[in-house]
Amino acid sequence: MLRIDCPFCGTRDETEFVYGGDASRLRPDMAETSEEVWNDYVFLRPNPKGPHPEYWFHQHGCRSWLKVTRNVVTHEITMVSYASPDRGDAE
Ligand SMILES: [Zn+2]
Repeated sequence: MLRIDCPFCGTRDETEFVYGGDASRLRPDMAETSEEVWNDYVFLRPNPKGPHPEYWFHQHGCRSWLKVTRNVVTHEITMVSYASPDRGDAE
């Protein structure tokens, strides 16, 4: 089981969180009309090995979105911050 160190609540079990997806992908501009660009964004996923940024939602805690850097091979978590820059300590 993963243990995620929430900046607000402290270290908690993975069961309190919900995985929110890949944090390395940037959404295309809403004015973008290319089907290929949107197709790639929605359907194509890289399969990285090693440290990878992810979004996690602390559903059973402070209900904050977090950005977590997790090694997808070893599950070691090396960085946790608030996902929103409005919280002051996000990347
Ligand atoms: Zn929390």
